[in-house]
Amino acid sequence: MTFERRRTRQIWVGDPAGNGVAVGGEAPISVQSMTTTKTADVEGTLAQIYDLAMAGADIVRCTCNEREAAEALAQIVPRSPVPIIADIHHQYLRALEALDAGVACLRLNPGNIRKPEHIKAVAQACKDRGVPIRIGVNGGSLDPELYEKYGDAVTPEALVESAQRELDYFREVDFEDVKISVKASNVPIMIEAYRQLSEAVDYPLHLGVTEAGPPPAGLIKSTAGLATLLSEGIGDTIRYSLTADPVEEARAGRQLLEALGLRERKGLDLIACPSCGRAEVDVIGLANAAQTALSDLNIPIQVAVMGCVVNGPGEAREADLGIAAGRHKGHLFIKGKNVKVVAEDQMVDALVEWAKLIDAEGIDAALARADAGAEAEAEADRAALLDEQGDDANDAGTKVELIRKH
Ligand code: SF4
Repeated sequence: MTFERRRTRQIWVGDPAGNGVAVGGEAPISVQSMTTTKTADVEGTLAQIYDLAMAGADIVRCTCNEREAAEALAQIVPRSPVPIIADIHHQYLRALEALDAGVACLRLNPGNIRKPEHIKAVAQACKDRGVPIRIGVNGGSLDPELYEKYGDAVTPEALVESAQRELDYFREVDFEDVKISVKASNVPIMIEAYRQLSEAVDYPLHLGVTEAGPPPAGLIKSTAGLATLLSEGIGDTIRYSLTADPVEEARAGRQLLEALGLRERKGLDLIACPSCGRAEVDVIGLANAAQTALSDLNIPIQVAVMGCVVNGPGEAREADLGIAAGRHKGHLFIKGKNVKVVAEDQMVDALVEWAKLIDAEGIDAALARADAGAEAEAEADRAALLDEQGDDANDAGTKVELIRKH
């Protein structure tokens, strides 16, 4: 099942023949993040860009707040694995310098650069070079005039009007190579602003909840806004704005798109049971250890960590690989079929070994290596546990009796 996407125009962030990324149209929804280094620190910024690209960012934005930053961008852009967007604050001259540095796109905040002649000069320069602009409206820095017009409040209508005004300036120089964002920190306002904008224009939209804050609340707020819109087919590129290491932003963006089936899985999808009275092991500790051991392998498989062999292999039968605990052993399974039994302290190592095997040889080849006795041993442990714990390990029957007494 997939979500039907609203059709937008397509633009290119960067060179289609190089590391450029298409945004809009039928292009895959892309993940963005932003560096937190001083852009003037070329090596530090490049190191972070590589980390972000590894974590799933398709496009990275760097601040261009001073001349030194623009000069550094000239050195960063040719060495970057992903297209670089320059974030322009109040000085339109920085935009022109960033274009000279060869950036793939500019981000302009209509609330910050307000002189029409400056806006048009930047749009004309972008047009001359074939470089797109993101109109980045932000509730926190909304044009004061619009803020006043809408009753001293950030409203969806005010955000959309700010974007429309900027578009009008761009059209005066016949420039429409744009994508747009209308971010707010209030999730319902952000959702409504994007809904209204997507009705009004067919430019690609960059989604984000601004100033979402540190995880986990920032992740939840961002996901609420982004996932709602993506499930309605709205959005062509996304950014989590977290008060955290930006690698977390890139990772979250990628994981959200994978979870919604909007991008192919690139890395690990670890699922785990919530644990219950049947658990034969510390499921939280085991799941965290497995996540740590498997994450960096970048193997695109789903791995299940299950607390008991009674229900684990069945409940996680869709997983490519999994392990279920039982009687001080780990029962390894592939697509629900038990393939090996290992000692309890070998469970994580076994997952790593078999994940690599699946990656190298595929599921069928791994299944062919199943130990002959694994299925029978799992069945015996399942039966023994049922015998010991009964079929009501969570003691639900006693609770039901208690309830009935009232
Ligand atoms: Fe986990 Fe087993 Fe409980 Fe299911 S029954 S939640 S697999 S411990």
